[in-house]
Amino acid sequence: KEALQKKSPYVYLLPEGTVQGQKVPVYFYLSERLLELLEEDAIRQAANAATLPGVVKAIYVMPDVHVGYGFPVGGVMATDTKEGIISPGSIGYDINCGVRLIATSLTADKVYPVREKLMQEILRNVPAGVGSTGKLKLSKKELAEVLVKGARWAVERGFGFEEDLQHIESEGALPGADPSKVSNTAYERGSGELGTVGSGNHFVEIQVVDEIYDEEISETLGLYEGQVTIMVHSGSRGLGHQVCVDYLKVAKDSLAKYGISLPDMQLACMPFSSPEGQSYFGAMKAAANYAFANRQILGYLTADTVRRFFGLSWEDLGYRLIYDLAHNIGKVEKHRVNGKVMELVVHRKGATRAFPPFHGEVPPAYRSIGQPVLIPGDVGRYSFLLVGQERSMEMSFGSACHGAGRLMSRSKAKELVRREGLEKVLEGLVVVAKGKGTIAEEIPQAYKDVSEVVRVVHELGIAKLVARMRPLGTLKG
Ligand code: 5GP
Ligand code: MN
Ligand code: MN
Repeated sequence: KEALQKKSPYVYLLPEGTVQGQKVPVYFYLSERLLELLEEDAIRQAANAATLPGVVKAIYVMPDVHVGYGFPVGGVMATDTKEGIISPGSIGYDINCGVRLIATSLTADKVYPVREKLMQEILRNVPAGVGSTGKLKLSKKELAEVLVKGARWAVERGFGFEEDLQHIESEGALPGADPSKVSNTAYERGSGELGTVGSGNHFVEIQVVDEIYDEEISETLGLYEGQVTIMVHSGSRGLGHQVCVDYLKVAKDSLAKYGISLPDMQLACMPFSSPEGQSYFGAMKAAANYAFANRQILGYLTADTVRRFFGLSWEDLGYRLIYDLAHNIGKVEKHRVNGKVMELVVHRKGATRAFPPFHGEVPPAYRSIGQPVLIPGDVGRYSFLLVGQERSMEMSFGSACHGAGRLMSRSKAKELVRREGLEKVLEGLVVVAKGKGTIAEEIPQAYKDVSEVVRVVHELGIAKLVARMRPLGTLKG
């Protein structure tokens, strides 16, 4: 930590050359409070990544940073498509883990009194939990179709609406996905898990908009105080995990062939343009598309449950997908580096794309306000909606934070629950799950205060605060 230089409020620099072979600087975006929580190992991991072949400009670390597999969660790295590598560990095991936010025209006064019953109904209808399987059991052929079509596959099967696709990052399907690069083991793991939440910090949450920071942008998004929203957080389940496992091995086995030496084997990678790199990229995109389909189904199942619970038509429910985004992903994007436009492989691991107003990849409806940035907080306090701002392009390859980030280890959280009792720790909250095990690990006290995290990206001009949502009830895996 001593090696960090404070450059301006919220900006800490680890200059290039601090560790051996470090080619580019690392920027940490933190408040003083969050700097105190920064782990030495997270600094080391970010510095290690700055030694990788073809890494460009700088590594950026978001305020919700914590130690990850090889590369810190909250990290953004870009590599040259020609000379650079692609690193599975720097994208993450849960490929296209991400967040979806759905607006309704219900108001909290309707939902609050019946929230326990409603959450029980959601628990019944939305599959969640370790190794849970959904209502779909897909053949290899059907699954290969999901891996190419993404969210559209789900819409074609009746899970949602054509308009939804306009409000998903990359329209819910990354082009160039290659199902033939996904292993049979991954197919097997994925065949029964589509449309399931999973476990850990994945969730489906009923929320109420309780604070508006920007009236004009909220109006464009159709958000107002007292409105009920649905938030979904899940990813590519066992299929994406297996793709990461498979290609970490491929990467390790090809290191010698490509003459790559690493400070940490968890950063095992391959040249992006090599056959191995391209195979991983094709498989990663396939897994990402599975995750887009997964959240499409989960969002629809949840909204449909809410709709039936209140006996409403879709129209009266006011179902509208605000946005759906990835926060563990690798993408080829054009960015300006030293005045020159370069094609880069942007690795976002626990980081959200945050493109500014008038960027070509922001959906037309949001073109003038910037891309929605959805930031879950924790099961007890609140979550946030921001929009991407101009400075993200120069400060973080168009990226922002992705959550609050863990404060307490899972075992420490369980210890607290054992000491205090779950009832007391979750006082007043409605949290449902198949088993009580994960809830204890996921208590609000286990997370940093997300309001501190989003304040940093807001102050830096990376993304702008628009609205805050409070949980009415949460389904945990
Ligand atoms: P991750 O992508 O790192 O698995 O998790 C993203 C973020 O989700 C966490 O950093 C945490 O802030 C947030 N989170 C975890 N559980 C919950 C929950 O039950 N409700 C909400 N609103 N946020 C959560
Ligand atoms: Mn996630
Ligand atoms: Mn995940």
